[in-house]
Amino acid sequence: MLSYYQYGLPPLIKRDTMRRKFVAGNWKMNGSLAENQARLTQLRQGLKEAVNIDIAVFSSAPYLAQCKSLLSGSSIQWGAQNVSEHTHGAYTGELSTDMLQDFSCKYTLVGHSERREIFKESNERVAEKFAQALAGNIVPVLCVGETLQQREDGQTMNVIATQLQSVLNLVGIQEFARGVVAYEPVWAIGTGKTATPEQAQEIHEAIRNLLAQHDENTSDAMQILYGGSVKPNNAAAIFAQPDVDGALVGGASLNADDFIKICCAAA
Ligand code: PEP
Repeated sequence: MLSYYQYGLPPLIKRDTMRRKFVAGNWKMNGSLAENQARLTQLRQGLKEAVNIDIAVFSSAPYLAQCKSLLSGSSIQWGAQNVSEHTHGAYTGELSTDMLQDFSCKYTLVGHSERREIFKESNERVAEKFAQALAGNIVPVLCVGETLQQREDGQTMNVIATQLQSVLNLVGIQEFARGVVAYEPVWAIGTGKTATPEQAQEIHEAIRNLLAQHDENTSDAMQILYGGSVKPNNAAAIFAQPDVDGALVGGASLNADDFIKICCAAA
């Protein structure tokens, strides 16, 4: 008997429905042992049933041990906000993948716009960090996005394509697929101005199409998060977009109630 697919009918389930949603909290340079203890305890308790989505928090490096101790065995993973492109050596102030492994980090951010802008990280350096994260078995969450000026100049997709291409050139599409992409329009980060769900979808779809030119399966499977002033009151509409697979949340991730609500909107 012929199977459904042998009739040449379209797939019963679109492959993109198989992608898990992922909600990640970027704490930036905030927190203290006492504050984190309260927040992590609340998150662990509030999210214990959220097993159908991926969840992670990105704390400052000194608190990764605390994340490990308070989140191990929970539904929440943890990661670093930055990683060195070098394995070890005379790089004062940097963090290696081995160090992140010592604290059981699953993820690291690479190329957050604050790193690109304030610390002048170039596309090439971000690509090297992405490659080094993979080499050290840490999942890189690659942040890409345009400034307001670039958007107004009609350069949005050129900018993002260049950011993605630097990484693709270095690691190739198969390795790229081991990471996660976060589309974060710089004009929406920490400003309270979020992209509309349609604006987010437009860029996410364009990113997916760009990746599909390299490999369709990778493009279908890739988690592409949106970041930029995601809050409990706008999360559901953003997550409802077909190419949005979750969020990278800054400010609202510092409030456990808000972060839990955003995770619930994804779950
Ligand atoms: C971020 O820092 O990655 C971010 C998206 O911040 P916010 O949610 O505060 O805009």
